[in-house]
Amino acid sequence: MRAAILPGLNEKLEVRSDVQAIGPGPGEVRVRIVASGVCHSDISAQNGTLPQPTPAVLGHEGAGEIIAVGEHVHNVAVGDHVIVSWVPPCGECKACRRGQPNLCLTLFMAGAVSQRFLAGETPIFGFAGTGTFAEECVIPSQAAIKIDDDVPLDIASLIGCGVMTGVGAALKTAHVEPGSSVIVFGCGGVGISVIQGARIAGAAEIVAVDLVPEKLEMAKRFGATHAVTPDKVVEVAAELTAAEGFDYGFEVIGRPETIRSAYDATRRGGTTTVVGAGAMDAMVSFNAFELFFSEKKILGCFYGSADVRTDFHMLLRLWRSGRLDLEGMITKRIDISEINDAFDDCLSGKVIRQIIEFK
Ligand code: NAD
Ligand code: ZN
Ligand code: ZN
Repeated sequence: MRAAILPGLNEKLEVRSDVQAIGPGPGEVRVRIVASGVCHSDISAQNGTLPQPTPAVLGHEGAGEIIAVGEHVHNVAVGDHVIVSWVPPCGECKACRRGQPNLCLTLFMAGAVSQRFLAGETPIFGFAGTGTFAEECVIPSQAAIKIDDDVPLDIASLIGCGVMTGVGAALKTAHVEPGSSVIVFGCGGVGISVIQGARIAGAAEIVAVDLVPEKLEMAKRFGATHAVTPDKVVEVAAELTAAEGFDYGFEVIGRPETIRSAYDATRRGGTTTVVGAGAMDAMVSFNAFELFFSEKKILGCFYGSADVRTDFHMLLRLWRSGRLDLEGMITKRIDISEINDAFDDCLSGKVIRQIIEFK
């Protein structure tokens, strides 16, 4: 089968056709991937911002059909349509039992260090324990979330990372309140999803911030009430909040400067949520005075604080009722052979989500 492999750090992806997925072993399932979104985190695995052993099949935002199940698998069966979750909740650890299954590390860490693919004779990792830039992948059964057969799998794939993370950041991490003011730095697939989440939560003002002018126009179609380049943030804060700052600031880029900007744009007592995934050696500075004096809450956000077992369905219901626009987020459909160009397009900031379709 075909798969896009990252041979080593900072190398171009190589699309090979001699790849196979190993298994399924006990507790695992084999998924035929129908669609996979391209998330910025895939690029961050390529350039070392996020740690990932190589060689690795990238991709972690996918949906498809179960074509084989290993022993002791009861939650899904052959023929089921599923969304791949890159954090499979084990259901038994402390994080799962205390109601924070997005923080479950049991199967996530096991997946990160296992080589569930072969390219020729070479064992290959899968990004974040998945590897959806492949026609098939083998994952723990807990990573396969069954959905209704009538949901188009391209729409479904987006929920696997960007949409769950972004909408979840607004609804489940920050708990955006009706009538509040929100500012979102970064309008890629994840930032647009934060904007949609804030709109669903009933925010009164939603300001989108991006460097790319086309993105600002797009952001308005998804619920942003205002859209500005970073140099206009102070001006718009003065206009909308009488310079007090926004109730909620979201950083959806993953850089120290923009984390700082999101904190600065949040009002005293407000909440800043860091969704962007930055590097381990990228430091952000806060002075000791402002931390207590401003009483701003700084929240991290991992996978939208989601319980994928129920929240994927919550998002699909919002989509079915016309309150979450997923179709509009698909900027481009590509063949896997175009994956390196797709990374360049993502870096240009002009696309929301690109989807690899496997026919
Ligand atoms: P993307 O590349 O599609 O979008 C990023 C956007 O930020 C682009 O529109 C770009 O123009 C804009 N941007 C870049 N620098 C900017 C700046 N200085 N000021 C204003 N705008 C700027 O990325 P994405 O797929 O939406 O992902 C966004 C971030 O979320 C990435 O860091 C990704 O790794 C991270 N992420 C985190 C989680 C999580 O669990 N926390 C999950 C998925 C993705
Ligand atoms: Zn667990
Ligand atoms: Zn992602």
